[in-house]
Amino acid sequence: MRKPIIAGNWKMYKTFDEAVDFVEAIQQEIPSPDKVDAVICAPALYLPTLVVASEDSSLAIGAQNMHYENEGAFTGEISPMMLSNINVDYVILGHSERRELFNETDEAINKKIRAALNQGIVPIVCCGETLEEREAEQTEAKVARQITKALEGFAPIEVEHMVIAYEPIWAIGTGKTATAQDANVVCCAIRLAIETLYGKDTAAKVRIQYGGSVKPENIEELLAQEHIDGALVGGASLQPESFLKLLEAAA
Ligand code: PGA
Repeated sequence: MRKPIIAGNWKMYKTFDEAVDFVEAIQQEIPSPDKVDAVICAPALYLPTLVVASEDSSLAIGAQNMHYENEGAFTGEISPMMLSNINVDYVILGHSERRELFNETDEAINKKIRAALNQGIVPIVCCGETLEEREAEQTEAKVARQITKALEGFAPIEVEHMVIAYEPIWAIGTGKTATAQDANVVCCAIRLAIETLYGKDTAAKVRIQYGGSVKPENIEELLAQEHIDGALVGGASLQPESFLKLLEAAA
C-alpha cells in the first residue's frame, strides 16, 4: 500500500553538463509513477535546469538542504520559498553529513521540516546511528529520539506526507550495508516512534527508506522487508544505469 520511493543523493558530485546528461539519459526509461517515485537530489546550482529538463517525465527533483527562513540576511543560504519558486518537489533534511560536518541540530531540522511543508516541499528526514552507538546497542533509542524531536508539533496529515530515511552512518559510502533484517528492525522502531506520536494510521502511511551503500545487488532484499519502502542512495545514484536498475527493482 505504500508506494516505494527511490531518491538519489548526488552530494557534491557531477559537473553541470554531467547532471543534465544524466537526466536526459534516464527520463524515458523511468518506470511508471504509479509503481515507484523517482527523485534526484542534486546540487543547488543545478536545480532550476534539472527541474525544466525533467518536466516531461515523472522524475522529481530535490534539494539536499535548505534554511528554515523564507528570506533574510543569511549569506550563502537557500530558502524553502526559493526552492518552491522553481518547483523543487523534495528536500533532504538532517543528513548525517550535515549533522556532523555542519552542526545541524534536531531543533533546526524540526524547523526546516515545518518550513518545507509550508512551501509544499516533501521533506526526506534522515536519521541513523554511529558504529559506536550500534555496538553499544543504542541504535533504536537514538533513531527514536531523532525522529521524535524532528517530528514534534505536526498534524498527522502532515506527517503522512513526509519521507523518513534510516541511514546507519557507518554504512554510508563504506560499502558496508546493514543486513536487510537489521535495517528492517530499525525501520520498524521508527514506525513505532511515529505511532507513539501520531497514531497507528499515520505510522502505517509514512514511507521509510533505507540508505547506506544501497546498490542494484542489494536493493531487492532490502525492499522485500516489511518496513522498508524505498532507498536513499548516494554512490549508486551517480550512474544512469545503476539508478535505473534501482528504480526497476522497486517498480
Ligand atoms: P551511499 O550514500 O549510498 O553512497 O552510501 C547514502 C547517503 O549518504 O544518502
